[in-house]
Amino acid sequence: MYIRDTIAAVSTPPGNGGIGIIRVSGVQAAVVGHTLFKPVSNGGLVSHRFSFGTIIDFATGEKIDEAMAVYMQAPRSYTREDVLELHCHGGWLVVERVLALVLSCGVRLADPGEFTRRAFLNGRIDLVQAEAVMDIIASKSEGALQLAQRQREGTLSVRIEEIRRYVVRALALVEAYIDFPDDDLGETDVAAISASVVDARNMIASLLNTYEDGRIIREGISVLIVGKPNAGKSSLLNMLLNENRAIVTHIPGTTRDIIEETVNFGGLAVRLLDTAGIRQTDDIVEQEGINRALGKISQADLVLAVFDSSREFSREDQLIYDALDGIKTIAVLNKTDLVQQLVLPDDDRFVSIVRIAALSGAGVDVLKHTVCSQFLHTSQTDSRELVTLSRARHRDALVSADQFLNKFVDGLQDRNLELLALDLRSALQAVGAVTGQTATDEVLDLIFSSFCIGK
Ligand code: GDP
Repeated sequence: MYIRDTIAAVSTPPGNGGIGIIRVSGVQAAVVGHTLFKPVSNGGLVSHRFSFGTIIDFATGEKIDEAMAVYMQAPRSYTREDVLELHCHGGWLVVERVLALVLSCGVRLADPGEFTRRAFLNGRIDLVQAEAVMDIIASKSEGALQLAQRQREGTLSVRIEEIRRYVVRALALVEAYIDFPDDDLGETDVAAISASVVDARNMIASLLNTYEDGRIIREGISVLIVGKPNAGKSSLLNMLLNENRAIVTHIPGTTRDIIEETVNFGGLAVRLLDTAGIRQTDDIVEQEGINRALGKISQADLVLAVFDSSREFSREDQLIYDALDGIKTIAVLNKTDLVQQLVLPDDDRFVSIVRIAALSGAGVDVLKHTVCSQFLHTSQTDSRELVTLSRARHRDALVSADQFLNKFVDGLQDRNLELLALDLRSALQAVGAVTGQTATDEVLDLIFSSFCIGK
């Protein structure tokens, strides 16, 4: 439901900053502006023009802050309602006082994502684009950002609309026969209907094919680094992070806890988890670290098993090797600058074997590339035109649409027009859920509640 009251929230992050922005949207936005903001120039607030002035407590006359204000008259605004933004100094106390003043004008505090929800309800953006806004804010890699920007521009929405049109065409033909019950479904029309449904299904199939890559670009992957003490895990991590986040040391077993950092590998966000050196130990703290490391093995998308290639394969190496059975693992043979001694028992255990020298960084780029190639099957991070599916919600809706279309194809033999029309309408319902044409209030609540306040 859409209640047309006026809402407000702080749109900048919590805490102290250079500028704090309070956003107001709704019919009262202009009144709030005139009540609280006294511009230096005489012209008052002109739509889409910034003005400089003072925010004043209208009850006491107290000057609260020097500020910039911009009023955007509907429909040329983010929400398509009247919008006012007050840009004041970014101390949390100032921002809180200005917000309290705005609310005292009879304005309600906005729910999470409510500005974007209004932009959706007023038809400025569809649901895919609203979700893309959230993805832009949450992007942790170039690839994820590009993908989100493409979806915000509407590339996926256009494709969904094309699918919808094919189904609508088929439905129109079927319904024409329902209106004239004496006519049998003619062969030419059956062919036309089938062709439309085939086209729709082909487009759905090619979109579904992009999902795994899309999901991985959007969410990133987690990579766990394991290896016996002194194999060079911390050195590798440092090389990957280009900073001294993990402590590198000569004493075995000092990286006791799990260190977690997100880095970018060629547009892909990679969450790196470095673990305590795995070895048999009596030390309780270290044992705890090792248990945690082994526990994490199955949760990671990929494991980098670091081996010291200047030493023979040891019992500790064997311990790790055994724990990795059935786990997607790249063997990283480190210290290739030294005399080589290591012989792995069985190469087939690993999806790839990469030789590096973590200290000098030799081979590390090859390692990064090998990690990416395990997950990305097309080069879509480079292409701006590609339409990519990246959310489970979109995938599920399209899978469901395809199931109804499949049922429709099966039912075509029996020529039961009512049932055929029903399948097509259900397919339309499912396709429409992606862009929000047929989304229920519950679905909208679920989607927008994961937004931040002020967006
Ligand atoms: P971790 O216990 O697995 O985290 O291992 P570290 O990263 O702390 O490295 C253990 C020791 O091996 C340190 O003395 C490093 O300087 C050394 N080391 C790491 N990588 C290399 C390498 O590529 N070549 C050589 N020669 N020494 C390395």
